[in-house]
Amino acid sequence: MVTIIATTYFTNRVVITHPISLSRAIDLMGHRSAIIPPDAGLVEVHSPSQVVLVPDQIIFNVDGAFVPKVAQPTKRGVYNRDHGICAYCGKWVTFTDASIDHIVPQAHGGPTEWENLVNACRTCNQRKADRTPAQARMPLRFQPFTPKVRLRPD
Ligand SMILES: [Zn+2]
Repeated sequence: MVTIIATTYFTNRVVITHPISLSRAIDLMGHRSAIIPPDAGLVEVHSPSQVVLVPDQIIFNVDGAFVPKVAQPTKRGVYNRDHGICAYCGKWVTFTDASIDHIVPQAHGGPTEWENLVNACRTCNQRKADRTPAQARMPLRFQPFTPKVRLRPD
């Protein structure tokens, strides 16, 4: 059972968050004030003729009300951004086997920000431990970036 969470931001920063049905989510995705947050997970919906990907979170920005531009990094967000690929060995890992690696370790003052976080398999994460990629001789295969909230075109 999949739960899709809709968050509606109204002016005056009133925020309403509630679960919605899959069919409602598919309808709402076409709405011009719908925003898919970058850390949303994707749900595959199979119909007889096609497969539709529906985000498990939808944000509605009513009347241009306040909406956070950049979501806080989460394990799911980093995993999705990096397409489940380990930044060190390049292998794809399941979400369960994935971990978040601080490129500059927290022990060395590395921040918990999108650009200091990559998806890593457990083996690489344990091998790298509290070292930088240079110290561990484990170069990054790609540069992490801060995802932007995708606004649907009008
Ligand atoms: Zn790896």
